[in-house]
Amino acid sequence: MGLNFNIAIDGHSSCGKSTIAKSIAEQYGMRYIDTGAMYRAVTLFFMRNDVIINKVINNNDILFSLQNMSIDFKFNLETKKSEMFLNNENVEDFIRGIEVSENVSIVAQIKEVRDKLIGLQRDIGKEKNVVMDGRDIGTKVFPNAKLKLFITASAEIRAERRCKELIDKGDNVSFEDVLANINKRDKHDTNRVINPLLKADDAILIDNTELSIKDQNLLIHNLIKAKLSK
Ligand code: C5P
Repeated sequence: MGLNFNIAIDGHSSCGKSTIAKSIAEQYGMRYIDTGAMYRAVTLFFMRNDVIINKVINNNDILFSLQNMSIDFKFNLETKKSEMFLNNENVEDFIRGIEVSENVSIVAQIKEVRDKLIGLQRDIGKEKNVVMDGRDIGTKVFPNAKLKLFITASAEIRAERRCKELIDKGDNVSFEDVLANINKRDKHDTNRVINPLLKADDAILIDNTELSIKDQNLLIHNLIKAKLSK
């Protein structure tokens, strides 16, 4: 079963957007697209090919690199998860670490990168059965999405949750480093010139600092039901 409409989820870093999006996708048989993974894959490619060195971009290499890069999501039947492939290599294990996180907001400011990824995202959205999360989905990628959510939470609680997630995965990170990275990315994402992180006027704001996942899911599924009955 599909909803026959797209859902746009935007918000600050590490506020649980993907948890919400996955839960909606599973319950309503929709396709989940994590656009952050796309920006992360481009960042990894730029790091590997020296398009970004010490957080400085080599502008001359951007277009050539983008032409030589393909990114796709492939569904893993075993884990039942969608995985990010960069030039046919599964890069899921490389894109979530702190090094890519330190560079991704710089790469995400580049117009050519955004144009390429937004084009890919809109193509995927033609299916009209997609739940997509990111920073500019409700404002730029799907301005006509039937349901738009804007998720946030305090920076400290986001860092706490993210830190736990990374440590559970075996990464050796400190709360202070994760908090600093979250604050830095929020600042970059909110203040950049092209497609900054903004709440669309018609997006519903959810602050989940003190909301359990169960209550948040209930709230969101009620919002979807209300859209379906219209
Ligand atoms: O969602 P996630 O935290 O993995 O995204 C990583 C980074 O990618 C963000 O901090 C932001 O700089 C960038 N991004 C973006 N636009 C999107 C999705 C992610 O600029 N739609």
